[in-house]
This record gives sequence, structure tokens and C-alpha cells, in this order.
Amino acid sequence: MLLENLVAFRREEVLHRLFGCHVLRMLLFFLHGASMIKELDLCELIQDFGNDEKCRAYLERLRWKDGVQCLECGSAKVYRILKRNQFVCDDCSHQFSVTAQTIFHDTHLPLWKWFLATYLLCESRKGMSANQMKRQLGVSYKTAWYLCHRIRAAMLDVAPEPLGGTVEIDETYVAGKKRRWRAKNAEQVVIGIRQRNGDLRLIRASDARSATVREIINANIGAHVEVIMTDESAIYPWALNHMQKERHKTVNHSKQYVHGDVHTNTVESAFSLLKRGIVGTWHKVSAKHLPAYLDEMCFRFNNRKNPYLFRDTMLKLIDSPNLEYKHLTAKVQDAA
Ligand SMILES: [Zn+2]
Repeated sequence: MLLENLVAFRREEVLHRLFGCHVLRMLLFFLHGASMIKELDLCELIQDFGNDEKCRAYLERLRWKDGVQCLECGSAKVYRILKRNQFVCDDCSHQFSVTAQTIFHDTHLPLWKWFLATYLLCESRKGMSANQMKRQLGVSYKTAWYLCHRIRAAMLDVAPEPLGGTVEIDETYVAGKKRRWRAKNAEQVVIGIRQRNGDLRLIRASDARSATVREIINANIGAHVEVIMTDESAIYPWALNHMQKERHKTVNHSKQYVHGDVHTNTVESAFSLLKRGIVGTWHKVSAKHLPAYLDEMCFRFNNRKNPYLFRDTMLKLIDSPNLEYKHLTAKVQDAA
């Protein structure tokens, strides 16, 4: 059996050399890659990734566009051990699977459940709670909670581009998880920055003081900003630097919400989506995990027109480091 597989793989390698990788890749793309070129719906997801074999084949295509390479030495002389769903390197004898060194490795959870969970998190506009995920996947609450957090962490944009053009800034307060020692003040400050026709950032702030807001603004807005729109809150004149102040326009919410094109409506619409997520889906979010939920919401919002969202999220999952359960639950033993 193993010999047959090796022969088959050798044949594939010969074909590869004969036609050149470009022709073979085009062929593979048309044969297998249909789901990669259009938006995915749930029926297609089940059809294309309904079992682990299909999921592994997809991960293989995403991970090694030019053919499987050894994870140890980078050699392309790699053979398939079909019985064990592994590869063996002809140069260094290293054996590895398509999930090796990725978040999917050693999870005990079938790959198709990972795929379905990722799809559901990408598609649910207001997010999905661990309880909903638990019911959809038929897993324990702990498994669903941990799974959601790992997918959420992979969605994080590690080096976002500074925002420019016309940006709106506003702050809001969201209900946090109440604690015994601060039962009356469990609200969290969230600063929203939205570039018109561009990206959204939602950042948890330790407080709404000018110095705190200044740091957040400087970390997210570039020197190419043209107009900064806020309400007439006393925070902003102190939070903005000289250059930003010259480009600052305000709208007085006690009198009017829109003054010409001076308004903060687009960032406020993002806030209302966030609040619907917190009230309707996650119910209460702890201070510790709030930034992760904010990142998830921004990722989905900023990719709302991306037809390749599922594929792009899978690529992020392949590249992301594993988030350990003990790290997630460290110090604060609460789950949102
Ligand atoms: Zn090797």
C-alpha cells in the first residue's frame, strides 16, 4: 500500500516536472480550487469541507501553493504516507502532517469542526457566543469557548496601516462583567476611529481622559489624515496634537447630529453594531477579553466586502501561533 502511494506520488512528481508547476497549478486550481474564487455559502462549505480529508486537501493547497515542502529542511522531495495522512522528506526523513506547526495540530477536534466554526464566526454579523457555537458544533462549552478565542486571536491584524483621509472619532461605554469589588462601575470605555470609506478600529481604553485618548489616536491615525471629525466633547481639544487640531471639525450633538458632512454617524453605526453584539450575542464581556471581541468585530467589519474572507481567515489560522488555554484563563478566571 505504502509502495503504491510512493509510486503514485513519484508519478505526480514526474508530471509536475513535465508540465511545469505553473500548468499543474492551473489544472489543480480548476479541478479543486472552485471554492477559492467565489464567496462561500453554507451548502458549499458542507459540500467542499464536509470531512477531514477534504479539509486536509484544502489546507495543503493553502499552505503550499507550489507543492508540499519539508517543514524541517524546505526540500520539495517529499512523499505522501496516505495511511497516516503524513508526508516524509526524502532528504532528511522528517515526517510531518499538513497541520504540523499550526493551530490545528493536536486539538482532538475534527478539522471540519474548525472549518465550520471559522465560517460561522466570519459570517455572523454580530458575532457568535460560545454557547451558540457549542450547540452548532455539538461540543462542550469549554471546547467551544476555547475554539472561538483561538479563531478570534488569529483574526487580529498585527500591523494595521495608520488611518488617513477623513476620520471620525468617538467614545462609547459598554457594559462589562460586574465584579464584587466594583459592582457599580463595570462599564468599559471603547474608542472608535473610522476612516470614511475605509477601516474601523475599536480600542478599549483604560479611561476616557485626554492623555489616554491621545495615545490611541496617535497609534491609529497617520500624518496623511485630512479631516478629523468628533463631537464637542472636551476630550478632543486636549487629545489632538497641533497638526491634528488644524484638521479638526466638530459637531454639536446637543443641537444637531449632522452639519453638512461634519458628523460622526459612521463610527456611531459601528458602535450600535458592537452594542447589539454585546447585548444580544455575548451578553456580558469581561474587561480582559473585551479587546479580543473588539478585534473580531473590526476584522469582520473591515472585511465585509471581501469575497475571500473564509479563505483569508483560514490563511491567518495556518500562520497564527497557538493560544494556550492556560494563557487565556490566566489570572482572571472568567469567560465571556
Ligand atoms: Zn527535510
